[in-house]
Amino acid sequence: MMKKAAIKKAINYTIDLTKIDGDGAFPCPKCGIIISPDDETEEIYQIVETKVKNDELAELLLTCNKCGSTIKLEGFLTQPES
Ligand SMILES: [Zn+2]
Repeated sequence: MMKKAAIKKAINYTIDLTKIDGDGAFPCPKCGIIISPDDETEEIYQIVETKVKNDELAELLLTCNKCGSTIKLEGFLTQPES
């Protein structure tokens, strides 16, 4: 009997946001589509999971809708708003 695919996805790629210039947009490591954190349409990607540490966003897990890769974002900077 076939097991159903686990809901928890394996992480295919990890993106370190501290190494990305600009507004945080980056190309999908697999298919190259630009993933922008400001894009809230969920047409290009969907957020799977967010991890919060000390009330700050620490990690973001998202799925690329084009190629299906699961990408982990880390390195969110804790920049105090002035
Ligand atoms: Zn992709």
